[in-house]
Amino acid sequence: MSAESAVGHTTTPSQTVFAAAERFFDDAAAILNLNLNQIAIVKKPRRSVIVQMPVFMDDGRIQLFEGFRVLHNKARGPGKGGIRFHPDVTLDEVQALAFWMTFKCAVVGIPMGGAKGGVVCDPSKLSNRELENLTRRYVAELYDVLGPDVDIPAPDVGTNPQVMGWVLDTYLMHSRKHQPGIVTGKSIELEGSEGRLGATGRGVEYCVRRFYKHVGKDLRGQTVAVQGFGNVGSFSALFLHQDGCRIAAISDVTGAYVSDSADIDPHLAMEHVRKRRSLDGFERVAKVRKLANPREILELDVEVLVPAALENQILADNVRKVRARLIAEGANGPTNYEADKNLAERGIPVIPDILCNAGGVTVSYLEWVQNRMGLYWSEARVNADLEEIMNRAFDSVWLCAQERKISLRLAAYVVAIQRVVIASELRGLYH
Ligand code: NAD
Repeated sequence: MSAESAVGHTTTPSQTVFAAAERFFDDAAAILNLNLNQIAIVKKPRRSVIVQMPVFMDDGRIQLFEGFRVLHNKARGPGKGGIRFHPDVTLDEVQALAFWMTFKCAVVGIPMGGAKGGVVCDPSKLSNRELENLTRRYVAELYDVLGPDVDIPAPDVGTNPQVMGWVLDTYLMHSRKHQPGIVTGKSIELEGSEGRLGATGRGVEYCVRRFYKHVGKDLRGQTVAVQGFGNVGSFSALFLHQDGCRIAAISDVTGAYVSDSADIDPHLAMEHVRKRRSLDGFERVAKVRKLANPREILELDVEVLVPAALENQILADNVRKVRARLIAEGANGPTNYEADKNLAERGIPVIPDILCNAGGVTVSYLEWVQNRMGLYWSEARVNADLEEIMNRAFDSVWLCAQERKISLRLAAYVVAIQRVVIASELRGLYH
């Protein structure tokens, strides 16, 4: 088992990732007085597909991989959600991730439903050719349930624009039509969108900025710790740094790297990861000390903590040690139900995942719109649209939280569930 898989998933069978996600939903459904039918219709995943995929490996062997694609809800539009390549992926986890996508799209008000995919594999142990073979097999197996008007994949943990290029090519070779909107998060050369690569981190930045505006405090000079230094973590650190924040610590699966003077340069760290594929050895190129246990980053005395790795990081056993004044959830599901209650009791605000990391799916939606028009926008235009959408979503969640005297997480679910229920009822039972 890799170190990454050892730390990522700590749920027990009695508390699966999906069951844990449902608890937040149930609290919001109670506030909305939803009846049991309304709850059942919008809570459960509509379609879960499991595929077994034989793939030729470089040494001539054939290896069988398991893959999933879940369509959670399509009342507000076609399914939308990334593909995760990770050794610990399970159907339950993919169902939870698809569930979060439904409410994420709803909270930012984009016309899409929720979906997600996963393949049980360790991409760091596969050659490029094996990764390509596996990706193509996955798309070929799921061809019937994917489509630009049906279910549109994107990157997630372990996948990137290159993998999206193989998804695009495989789908187009089967459909024999030019349909670039089948997948988002593509390279610019393959009709991807300007701004998509850093979009989730931008969304995190916009949410943190908006939070500070609402509480009337200056963001400049605030200290930040970022857990996970992949796509979401690295760009969150970069953009917050550009806003004048001081990056006190970053981490990945190799450890946590702490600067006592809070002046980590995200560019330097990104360059290191580009060369070394991880932060390993960063203590030799920057003035940082390394913490052997990467989880300790969650306990540092900083203003803003951005968990941007995997789910189930802030739990009942470590939540009391969290000292940050604001938590901005870059990852999906980093805080479990009990820990969330504890943070609320202690008055530590959490910008919840379904709002905070929605920048990625928002620019994916803008990419899909551009693909359908065949007309491409500048990065400035994309970022301006993203900022407007994120600010509007943040404000509606903030207002709901103030009016109902509830946490931002509950408010985000209240806003989102309401929208899905209304769409579902307007369409009628047939969908
Ligand atoms: P990624 O694969 O690019 O990076 C994941 C990072 O987390 C890596 O640096 C890895 O080393 C690190 N990591 C894993 N376990 C860790 C641990 N226990 N402690 C510290 N670091 C650890 O993945 P990503 O795309 O950045 O996604 C991160 C999270 O954000 C996931 O929850 C994902 O679902 C969510 N998310 C991603 C996007 C997107 O656009 N990529 C959008 C919304 C949400």
